[in-house]
Amino acid sequence: MIKLDAKIPEGPVAQKWTNYKAHQNLVNPANKLKLDVIVVGTGLAGAAGAASFGELGFNVLNFCIQDSPRRAHSISAQGGINAAKNYQNDGDSIYRLYYDTIKGGDYRSREANVYRLAEVSNHIIDQCVAQGVPFARDYGGLLDNRSFGGAQVSRTFYARGQTGQQLLLGAYSALSRQIEKGNVKMYTRREMLDLVTVDGKARGIIARHLITGEIEKYAAHAVVIATGGYGNVYFLSTNAMSCNGGAAWQCYKRGAAFANPCYVQIHPTCIPVHGSFQSKLTLMSESLRNDGRIWVPKQKKDAAAIRAGKLKPTQIAEADRDYFLERRYPAFGNLVPRDVASRAAKECCDEGYGVGATGLAVYLDFASAIGRLGKHVIEERYGNLFQMYEKIVDENPYNTPMMIYPAIHYTMGGIWVDYELQTTIPGLFAAGEANFSDHGANRLGASALMQGLADGYFVLPYTIQNYLSSEIRTPRLSTDLPQFNEAQKAVEDRIAKLMNIKGNHSVDYFQKKLGHIMWDKVGMGRTKAGLTEAIEEIRAVRKEFWHNVRVTGAIDEFNPELEKALRTADHLELGELMALDALHREESCGGHFRQEYQTPEHEALRRDDTFMYVSCWEYTGENAEPVMHKEPLVYEEIKLAQRDYK
Ligand SMILES: Cc1cc2nc3c(=O)[nH]c(=O)nc-3n(C[C@H](O)[C@H](O)[C@H](O)COP(=O)(O)OP(=O)(O)OC[C@H]3O[C@@H](n4cnc5c(N)ncnc54)[C@H](O)[C@@H]3O)c2cc1C
Repeated sequence: MIKLDAKIPEGPVAQKWTNYKAHQNLVNPANKLKLDVIVVGTGLAGAAGAASFGELGFNVLNFCIQDSPRRAHSISAQGGINAAKNYQNDGDSIYRLYYDTIKGGDYRSREANVYRLAEVSNHIIDQCVAQGVPFARDYGGLLDNRSFGGAQVSRTFYARGQTGQQLLLGAYSALSRQIEKGNVKMYTRREMLDLVTVDGKARGIIARHLITGEIEKYAAHAVVIATGGYGNVYFLSTNAMSCNGGAAWQCYKRGAAFANPCYVQIHPTCIPVHGSFQSKLTLMSESLRNDGRIWVPKQKKDAAAIRAGKLKPTQIAEADRDYFLERRYPAFGNLVPRDVASRAAKECCDEGYGVGATGLAVYLDFASAIGRLGKHVIEERYGNLFQMYEKIVDENPYNTPMMIYPAIHYTMGGIWVDYELQTTIPGLFAAGEANFSDHGANRLGASALMQGLADGYFVLPYTIQNYLSSEIRTPRLSTDLPQFNEAQKAVEDRIAKLMNIKGNHSVDYFQKKLGHIMWDKVGMGRTKAGLTEAIEEIRAVRKEFWHNVRVTGAIDEFNPELEKALRTADHLELGELMALDALHREESCGGHFRQEYQTPEHEALRRDDTFMYVSCWEYTGENAEPVMHKEPLVYEEIKLAQRDYK
């Protein structure tokens, strides 16, 4: 039975991390050489963690799916990374970043973790600048900032629309240095397919070599999962195609609690879906909301004429436009948090004001910013995003407003971790988007990069030592132990079973079917009836999958269909847990919008008296109902309030 102990240090929230660091156990340099750490993932969290552990002197084994660590999904991050530097002197502080993050997450995150995140945010910027990350600078050479949703200050550091790429190159260079020194051994093109535990502790992983198909075993004194989020359960999302919830799900099945699986972020500014053969959605960065104004026609007849191709947006007079975010939320305007902006756009479209051929789009318009600042300024700020939009949609956004619609983007839920980022399995840690820790029910823009790098550079290097200090007498484990062989055999059997089904439908057929159910019933608006149906429907798709999927190719070769099949098999189980979690949470908070629980103004209605907790699910076996445990959320510093962006 799972035991939840968040291990929050004593003392006032602002001193907890300092106190922790002052009293944690350390490992001396000679012992570090004898300790192995597996890090799965080379995104910002994994690469930062692996590089830092290597720098400390541990022996690191680092894994990723791609052919190079620097192709991890973090590379796609566009808009920026938050930090409480207050370079703009506009009233920012560590406290304010912490406050905005808790409020942005609709009071469903752990206070102590969030404070620490805000506290170390400033170190991240210093670290990255020292690495040579080319953050945007103003005319005088100082680091520039822009604004992101849910904040009234400018605290977002950026490198044009390629912030993730530049940060990942920084982390990759730190990692490469450790690879060259021999402290990190890099295993590219490997996919973790199981976690190995020995006497209740995480001791290794089973991975498939994606080129040869070989099933490999790796042992270590601790394992860090930094495998990103599970947005691709929905099939269509802004995530890279290889993003998947598989590794997190394997940890869950080995005893790690899965926290808040239903908390999913839907991003308001994505290029709308344009056809049923599409496999990917494209994000238009939140940074665009700094200068872009979101609107729909005030009159339904104008919206209908636009949909029919009889009217152009530029022909709609200013007085006939509804800048609905500015109207509804004057204090934050177009920079309300993502959940609020997404719901407002959906409401407009549901009521018949949507534009585009499908009616599932709203405008993001730069005309007034171009008029005020000049085209060249907008080009300097967002040039690559505008170019990307034009390539996909074949319309020039400098001349005609962009069309956007909400899409699945990020998962706040994930593997439950305590203050040390340790899961309920001793020796198993989780970092970055893979854990649940800091964003509550809604993540603020530019805070995922911050969290991934905070976890990897500044939190784990301390907390993992606290754990490893008790492992200095544990000799290197052999992968010939029965636990490794059993796990390897289970993986081989699962693969053989999948290959031998030889059914009639492709893997994508099933992942798409799951995605439709998830989007329709576990998406932006959720109801008791819809969620109950979703659970039944997912079970039916899962059953059909295991009887009728056709996985082409062979086991012992590069086989992307097999890779997808293994991930889809996990998603078909994870999707059900997401629906179950959403069903149990009879309140609305952040990205989790239960239609039965809304204020008269259609805002999310939290029920703090009943649901002030993290829901932590425990796996109890195949076809058995998982058990939910609760981690109560206690706010010592911040007063609970209804979120208000008006
Ligand atoms: C289009 C887009 C734009 C974004 N822009 C921003 C932004 O501007 N600011 C911001 O703060 N956030 C942004 N985000 C969110 C942010 O990019 C992610 O949350 C963050 O990069 C996740 O980092 P990570 O290190 O946790 O995981 P990832 O970067 O997803 O890395 C996961 C790693 O795990 C590996 N992996 C996964 N499964 C396995 C397995 N089974 N075995 C072995 N290896 C495995 C992968 O190969 C990869 O190396 C954006 C997200 C998207 C989709």
